[in-house]
Amino acid sequence: MCGIVGYVGGQSALDVVVEGLRRLEYRGYDSAGVALLADGKLATDKKAGKLANLESSLAESPLPAATTGIGHTRWATHGGPTDRNAHPHLDCTGSVAVIHNGIIENFALLRAELEGRGHQMSSDTDTEVVAHLLEEETRGNGEAVDLADAMRRVCRRLEGSFTLVATHVDAPELVVGARRNSPLVAGRGNGENFLASDVAAFITHTREAVELGQDQVVEVTAKSITVTDFDGNPGESREYHVEWDLSAAEKGGYDYFMLKEIDEQPQAVADTMLGRLGADGRLHLDEMRLSDDDLRAVDKIIVIACGTAFHAGLVAKYAIEHWTRIPCEVELASEFRYRDPVLTRSTLIVAISQSGETMDTLMALRHAREQQARVLAICNTNGSTIPRESDAVLYTHAGPEVAVASTKGYLTQIVACFLVGLYLAQVRGTKFGDEIRAVVDDLRGMPAKISDVLASMDPVRALGRELRDATSVLFLGRHVGYPTALEGALKLKELAYMHAEGFAAGELKHGPIALIEDGVPVIAVVPSPRGRGVLHDKVVSNLQEVRARGARTIVIAEEGDTAVEPYADTVIRIPQSPTLLQPLLSTVPLQVFACEMADARGHDVDQPRNLAKSVTVE
Ligand code: GLU
Repeated sequence: MCGIVGYVGGQSALDVVVEGLRRLEYRGYDSAGVALLADGKLATDKKAGKLANLESSLAESPLPAATTGIGHTRWATHGGPTDRNAHPHLDCTGSVAVIHNGIIENFALLRAELEGRGHQMSSDTDTEVVAHLLEEETRGNGEAVDLADAMRRVCRRLEGSFTLVATHVDAPELVVGARRNSPLVAGRGNGENFLASDVAAFITHTREAVELGQDQVVEVTAKSITVTDFDGNPGESREYHVEWDLSAAEKGGYDYFMLKEIDEQPQAVADTMLGRLGADGRLHLDEMRLSDDDLRAVDKIIVIACGTAFHAGLVAKYAIEHWTRIPCEVELASEFRYRDPVLTRSTLIVAISQSGETMDTLMALRHAREQQARVLAICNTNGSTIPRESDAVLYTHAGPEVAVASTKGYLTQIVACFLVGLYLAQVRGTKFGDEIRAVVDDLRGMPAKISDVLASMDPVRALGRELRDATSVLFLGRHVGYPTALEGALKLKELAYMHAEGFAAGELKHGPIALIEDGVPVIAVVPSPRGRGVLHDKVVSNLQEVRARGARTIVIAEEGDTAVEPYADTVIRIPQSPTLLQPLLSTVPLQVFACEMADARGHDVDQPRNLAKSVTVE
């Protein structure tokens, strides 16, 4: 999920690789490491923390000069951010070094098989299995090995999302890469070639790039870049000239990190689910230090969170109560500990924080633990304080989020909450296994639907520009559309610095309808007419009410929902989905709208005024 660099050529591989890693630093990471191939031996160094830690270690114990090397920045998903878990990972014989971004979904099975065959693992990562599998595939008579072929055979056994790069002592002046659902691009130089997660890592050396396709392996020597599929057939790759300057390259050509992160949502949502459904058909969470008996004893759930994460909690409440029949409250972390909440050993606190360092949430969590409550954290940052202080953790695996306003962090928190709800339902037997699997199947269909929403955002962007001078925008929703309305309003406040409010649509008549006057934009999130049609009809009535009072109505509605048309000035279509999962779709246009409006108003979308990414003060 972070950075990968590979190099073969005439320069110092260490210099090129470390410079490349520096250029990928913008992606965020928690550890860094390098491996060099020098005189038929691998030399490696790796350190938790910033690149500077690795550089001082390299200064203290220099590695031998080499012209072939690989480097990695890690965003831990499996195993804490420690020196030991940092990449590269080696096999038992120290012959092959592997770096990896992404998640190997079936690593537990592969690891058990490898250990059964006598391999010694020296990290907690999912990645390390690849080193040992490559060891088995290249084990031979000491002659030159076909590393690319070994990589192809290994990749055929891997499930999940991965960019892999490896180098082997018996395959000199060669770096081999592979990719599935995770980026990898090669750079074509003169007598030297590069591999990287994105072109930012090498554009100071070359602007000729080769973009790899899905499920491809690439063999890079100083003179050649050879691409095949996982079966060894010649692979199609796209050659292009990079026009971007460095800052555009870092953002993958997007104007803002936020836009890039909005587009990464289908993958991020898929990654949150990776590896959760075991071969036994049961759900598995990351670090579960609570027994099934503990979970069966839970009689109340309280979700604590702040800002956008609080809205994820509000969505969670609908799902958790519906699936588990356990009462679920959602509370702002900053309020929670000051109101003397009733907590017992059978209260489960679900603490949601992207960074894992949100001070309000941390303080609330500590308060809950002092009262004996159990805490399950939902977090995007492995090894951060909140998961460390919790009894169980579910990592969202969204990858680092650079823009201050959360987007992929939010959608993946919702998915994580769903997984927690389903896990509890499984343990407590409030849903049958096939019912749980049906929801998981629906969830698995969501990344493609989010992609469909993203592909149809031009009218939303146009709307953001058209309404840039509005002084206020109101958002309406019911059921899970209510938190979506709150999130849409929050995004607009954060980014466009304008008055925006989200309301439960049924609450309108109890006060907020007084705000409606000629031309006020009202964005309504309309529930599916299928399923609980009554909710749908009620929101349509609310639409009529505001339109009759002059509001400009913008309606987010499912494909095929024609009932909204008479009352909508603009309709934004989203694919059909089960009601509970709709926020994963309906939030996306609201993110795009806020981003566009902020840009149209001349604001820095990635760094909104007065806000910080991780709020580490109370
Ligand atoms: N899953 C791997 C790990 O936890 C790679 C993480 C990454 O993408 O950096 O080590």
